[in-house]
Amino acid sequence: MVKRKALDKRYIYLRDKQRCFYCGKPLKPGQMTLDHYQPRSKSGTDDYFNLVSSCRLCNKYKKNNIPVDKDEVQLRLFHRAWEDKKLLWEVKGYNKMESGRIISQIDTVTCKGDYSVARNKKQTLYIRNNVVYRMDGDRVKSF
Ligand SMILES: [Zn+2]
Repeated sequence: MVKRKALDKRYIYLRDKQRCFYCGKPLKPGQMTLDHYQPRSKSGTDDYFNLVSSCRLCNKYKKNNIPVDKDEVQLRLFHRAWEDKKLLWEVKGYNKMESGRIISQIDTVTCKGDYSVARNKKQTLYIRNNVVYRMDGDRVKSF
């Protein structure tokens, strides 16, 4: 079973430079709301790459819309989460270097409701609650 870590709201707040992701307004910690970039009602997950800081107004205004730049933003936030050590790798049999190499080549991230999928040309990663728990595809060659 995949371990669930408590969501680090402060991480998202600092990552988004203490501002609303949408309008750029500076936010005090108490003013910040978490917004699912891809709404939960439309298969968005609680992974860090699908959560942004938002002011109340933007959160309300956005409703259940999916932003047009969703794919690009989720991919960017996915790589950022890995760099910030907020994604855990729990697929057995891979060392840090190998997992890092696979992650660095990820070019597509898709939220599927209960889990997310991240892909590159050769591998597919499955992610739940910010944990990479399964991989399909080619093994990485060690050089
Ligand atoms: Zn805003």
